[in-house]
Amino acid sequence: DSEEGEKSRHPRWVRVNTIKSSLKEQLQSTFKGYEKVESIGEILTARGSRKIYCEDPNIPNLLALPSRIDLGKTPSYTKGDIIFQDKASCFPAYLLGLLEQDGDVIDGCAAPGNKTTHAAAIVSTQDPGGERKVIAFERDKGRTEILKKMVKLAGADQIVTVKGASDFIAAKPNSPDYENVGAILLDPSCSGTGIVGRDDAIKLHLPSSSTESTKAQGAGSRKNKKRKRGADKADDKPTAAESKEEMTLNLDETTAEEVPLDAADKLTERLTALSTFQLHILTHAMRFQNARKITYSTCSIHFEENEGVVFQALATSVAKERGWRVLRREEQVEGLRKWGRRGQWEDGKLSGSVVDEKSKGGVLEGCIRCDKG
Ligand code: SAM
Repeated sequence: DSEEGEKSRHPRWVRVNTIKSSLKEQLQSTFKGYEKVESIGEILTARGSRKIYCEDPNIPNLLALPSRIDLGKTPSYTKGDIIFQDKASCFPAYLLGLLEQDGDVIDGCAAPGNKTTHAAAIVSTQDPGGERKVIAFERDKGRTEILKKMVKLAGADQIVTVKGASDFIAAKPNSPDYENVGAILLDPSCSGTGIVGRDDAIKLHLPSSSTESTKAQGAGSRKNKKRKRGADKADDKPTAAESKEEMTLNLDETTAEEVPLDAADKLTERLTALSTFQLHILTHAMRFQNARKITYSTCSIHFEENEGVVFQALATSVAKERGWRVLRREEQVEGLRKWGRRGQWEDGKLSGSVVDEKSKGGVLEGCIRCDKG
């Protein structure tokens, strides 16, 4: 498939940032004159630059538009009233059920901050008085700078406290700082094998006033690392894309930095290294004294990084002592209860001792997958 073909199989997803605006306001301004359609299929088959949108049936305040429609220069985008965020990336914050549950939220792996600002938007709807907080951890220094910019642009700086560059694993679960934390969002570094329509899914476009940050966020994907290493030696000239007036930051959501570069092509080794780290960070989250909900997400297609980590986490002593379990489908937020694609089992990938055969089906039914479509 050509890149263009790949992109046109996916809509342009636009999340209305309810901290600064509302769906109604956006439909009357940015999308004035656009025709509402009822199915995402119509968006995908739209010809030319037909101005249509579809309200997503699963995620509130999310719109699908034909990928050819360029909103990158609209004032609503440059002001942070709308955010380009892939549908699958909107599941974790929504799934936390923050409208129904009180307390602060931790985002343990936050940069560039799409899920952080989404969580902040939901929290602020439930608590317009501003008591509740989102505490965002990001270990990487350069990515922390991007995260701060993103939070500011989204108007979420009163809600979000950025702890960066700061390792979530070093945060003490019993610290008084976290006693009000009721929910934890965990979207750790992964293999990135599930990322599609790359332009839409993983690049963050910031208005040109934010271009300073581009160099700082070098650490990230393998590709970025390689480039950065090269740039360390030679002069760090901007690429063609970087010199465009409107900057396209190559902000890969995935960072495989836990894995040595020479091992990165060996899938099995890579998945073992990543899932060890993912299990570690997930069980750390399970220790937070008053946490009642965790969403664990990756943009990987591999069982080892997804259901495999969940089964292993559930078999740990901390999970058993604290009573962690996977939320049943019927307990999940309304929009995702009706989402059909659920966890899948892969034979031979886990040792029998971590799987409780009686609850296996329920665990898989509680997990959510998004396909490439
Ligand atoms: N949730 C982000 C979003 O939606 O915009 C994407 C997160 S990305 C997949 C994972 C991030 O976690 C990377 O920025 C990485 O630097 C960070 N990270 C990895 N391990 C971490 C740790 N132990 N503590 C804090 N951040 C960590």
